[in-house]
Amino acid sequence: MKAGDEKKFSRAECLQILNLPDDALENLMETAYSLRTKYKGNRVSIQILTNVRSGNCTQNCAYCAQSRDSKAPIEKYRSVSDEKLDSNNNLVNEFHLSRHCIGLSGMGFTDKEIENLAERIARMKKSGTHICCSIGFLTEHQARVLKAAGLDRINHNLNTSRRFYPEICSTHTYERRIQNIQMLQRVGFEICCGGIIGMGESKEDVVDMLLDLVAINPESVPINFLLPVKGTRLAERDVSNLTFEYCMKILCLARLLLPKSDIRCAAGREVYFKGHEKELFKVVDSVFASGYLTEGGQSLSETFKTIENAGFTWFVESADP
Ligand code: SF4
Repeated sequence: MKAGDEKKFSRAECLQILNLPDDALENLMETAYSLRTKYKGNRVSIQILTNVRSGNCTQNCAYCAQSRDSKAPIEKYRSVSDEKLDSNNNLVNEFHLSRHCIGLSGMGFTDKEIENLAERIARMKKSGTHICCSIGFLTEHQARVLKAAGLDRINHNLNTSRRFYPEICSTHTYERRIQNIQMLQRVGFEICCGGIIGMGESKEDVVDMLLDLVAINPESVPINFLLPVKGTRLAERDVSNLTFEYCMKILCLARLLLPKSDIRCAAGREVYFKGHEKELFKVVDSVFASGYLTEGGQSLSETFKTIENAGFTWFVESADP
């Protein structure tokens, strides 16, 4: 395939891409770069994350420090202070970042909790911030309450393939996630949906997850590379297969399959792509700054520098891109 071509890929072709020899990576990246430039120009979207509700989750996702089985020493609280929420929201506007992402641990919410959240979202939307909320399963009524409050986007990840899902979580199903996403699309939300690489899945699992993402066609696709967290079931997971080359092939494949979506290198960026930032931004157009829900990350100012040094821009003219 030559740079500039766009085509549909079969499962076998996707696997071929992940199995390419490392010396074919440069060509693959050039193809991805032409699509990145065509649809996303030269800009990198920067998101910052606020953990609105932390820990004490009823679910048992193996990678997650907030899960019911996790012994990770994280801060746990029912609701972040307005002060913290508003100061992060102001940061997004002050620095002309792309988006404020807010995350809530847990899978089920009462209507009262959703109404409270909607009030906080409506307050933040007054300043025009583009807001994405990472949240569990909502009823359609709850989704409509958040939509009416002005929430733009919802993050609900697939995380891995349908086949591998029971290996990482047994308290809810992959199918329930798909149904939740379909309901959110019906209600009219933009969707952020991606996965985690390095949990013990095969290359076939990675391809199957990406092909399910093609069917969903999310506006944003966060690809996380596992950071094994002490106290979680995956604390000792061997991540030696997460070489720069393998991780990059996955991001390139995501770009080829979903050329118009934001492809975000999320957790793991600072570890697995260290020293390769120029190549990274040729393929992805979206990152988090200032850390992840329970893990630290590159500061905002360092992220600006990294993007600019790689020859890309991040500044958003209006507060609502
Ligand atoms: S990923 Fe979400 S649902 Fe799963 S354990 Fe963590 S907070 Fe709970």
